[in-house]
Amino acid sequence: MEKKSLEIHSENILPIIKKWLYSDRDIFVRELVSNACDAIQKVKILRDQGEIEAKDDEFRIDVEIHKEQKKLLFIDNGIGMDAEEVKKYIAQIAFSGAEEFLGKYRSSSSDQDQMIGHFGLGFYSAYMVADYVEINTLSYKKDATPVFWRCDGSSEYEIGLGTRASRGTEVALFIGKDHEECLDSSYIQKILSQYCSFLPYPIYFNGKRINEKAPLWVKHSSECVRQDYLDFYHYLYPMEEDPLFWLHLHVDYPFTLKGVLYFPKIRKDFDPNKSSISLYCNRVFVSENCKDIIPHYLMMLKGVIDSPDIPLNVSRSYLQTDRTVRQLGSHISKKVTDSLSTLYRTDRDRFLQVWNDVSVVVKLGILEDDKLYEKAKDFLLWKDTEQNWTTIQEYLERNREKTRDKIFYTVDEKHARHVLQVYREQGIEILCANAPLDSYLMHYLEDKLRPSTFQRIDAEDENILDKSREKVVLDLEGKTEAVRLAEFVQSKLTECDVQVEAKSLATNALPGFVMIDEKQRRMRDYFMRLSPEERAQASQFGKRIFVVNTNNSLIESIRKLDAKRPDVAKDLIHEVYELALLSQKEMDPSAMHEFINRSNRILEVLTTEALKSL
Ligand code: ADP
Repeated sequence: MEKKSLEIHSENILPIIKKWLYSDRDIFVRELVSNACDAIQKVKILRDQGEIEAKDDEFRIDVEIHKEQKKLLFIDNGIGMDAEEVKKYIAQIAFSGAEEFLGKYRSSSSDQDQMIGHFGLGFYSAYMVADYVEINTLSYKKDATPVFWRCDGSSEYEIGLGTRASRGTEVALFIGKDHEECLDSSYIQKILSQYCSFLPYPIYFNGKRINEKAPLWVKHSSECVRQDYLDFYHYLYPMEEDPLFWLHLHVDYPFTLKGVLYFPKIRKDFDPNKSSISLYCNRVFVSENCKDIIPHYLMMLKGVIDSPDIPLNVSRSYLQTDRTVRQLGSHISKKVTDSLSTLYRTDRDRFLQVWNDVSVVVKLGILEDDKLYEKAKDFLLWKDTEQNWTTIQEYLERNREKTRDKIFYTVDEKHARHVLQVYREQGIEILCANAPLDSYLMHYLEDKLRPSTFQRIDAEDENILDKSREKVVLDLEGKTEAVRLAEFVQSKLTECDVQVEAKSLATNALPGFVMIDEKQRRMRDYFMRLSPEERAQASQFGKRIFVVNTNNSLIESIRKLDAKRPDVAKDLIHEVYELALLSQKEMDPSAMHEFINRSNRILEVLTTEALKSL
């Protein structure tokens, strides 16, 4: 046996690698299996060039645990190495790869947890778990002799005559005391299935094949049918319901990218900061986290992207400015909108079935990426209170004249239903804007849709007035009947922070409603979403006007009652006001107690009066 020295530049490189990478220890499996795949790939190339005889079905990689010897074996029938190659590729090049890695890793040590996990560390990652490593290899070259190499990770290695009788390489890891888990079958099985399930050559673990499923994303979309996509989804996510919709990515220029992305049914416990898209590099699993690569709003998607062009060993801040990564993000974005747009045009029914879930992604996308709006505006659908779907453009075309460019909405169909009814009677459509993002989206869209603005149905009364029945006759003091009515109601609501106006509403049924300025209410709602201290300030916003209907007889009757029973009249006016607040979901919960007490008082008076008339 010959004794040689590793060509190293830093004596303590391995302990440092071990320390730094401890949390990513499992990647050694991926690195060694990838090397084995590369070695087989090289045989294939040489075979295709007529230099070696080899059959496709003989290629294989075996991973074996030999517990008694504390040995983990990686065997391939790839290209093999001769002594010179072992010296060069393992002792020199592999080592310099490790050293280069260390340089990068050290310089970004503050970003430690932001490293993606594909380090180009290669062969030397074996030393994260092994006390020493042996290689037994036979090169494909004619008359090659087998080579044995052994190194304990120090600067010295042994090299000599090996025992391997057929072309290929065996890498034996003698597992260290602290890493005995690596001799546990279920542990290795788990890592292999995570990282190596889609590698191109058969991989066997203790004799059992682990990568039977072909990766769908490497196929062309024209070769795949609906069931293939569903099957693949369930293979990746066995516990999930069917996905709603998917897209197959295939880009050759200006970067290489393949992938299949699925829109899942969005679950309530969905975490918007966790990506479920797995990143692969030439079929090797790299990371479960595509967070810094795909646009944030696509985080809800599931599936796989595979690209050798994503820089994998850099920090997040670098990724965000990287041109390829940005191009890749916008490509995926474009694909998503294109597919939705096609679905909308070609199969509107199916589109409507998925829109509920997909809309969250699109809305978030519009808010995050200005370019998306132009593409999405034609299929950005809103439901109206009659259950019809419409785009804003279509809404405006139909309603613009009546509403003078306003887009009326309600936060849900049950909200202020009686006010809503008045709009309906006027032939004005009301959109439902009850998704959590809608308030932000409306604000964003107003900028695009100028001069149109969104108005909640209780934000104004312009469109629900009946001017023909306005009470305009002046009395001796120069006041109209409407003014008198307003003054009366105001006098009963002195403790409430509300201004009263009396108007001729286009319905008789409604005693009144609370009008809340749209802008101020939005500001208030914004504050309400903040901390409790800021919420306290929120009450300052949202000036309320109680619009009393001059065409409703109740208020007039209460006014008559006031002459005899001012106490009951006061209770009744409060009741009417608070019923309006309640129906508009504007009632302060702390007022509820008094509301119930008062309601009981009123009921008692009414019952007593009713008994008298029996
Ligand atoms: P990388 O794979 O990134 O080149 P590695 O450190 O993993 O870096 O390996 C260094 C080199 O050693 C490889 O490029 C290859 O030439 C050689 N090598 C490693 N493993 C094998 C193997 N199983 N069969 C043949 N050659 C190998």
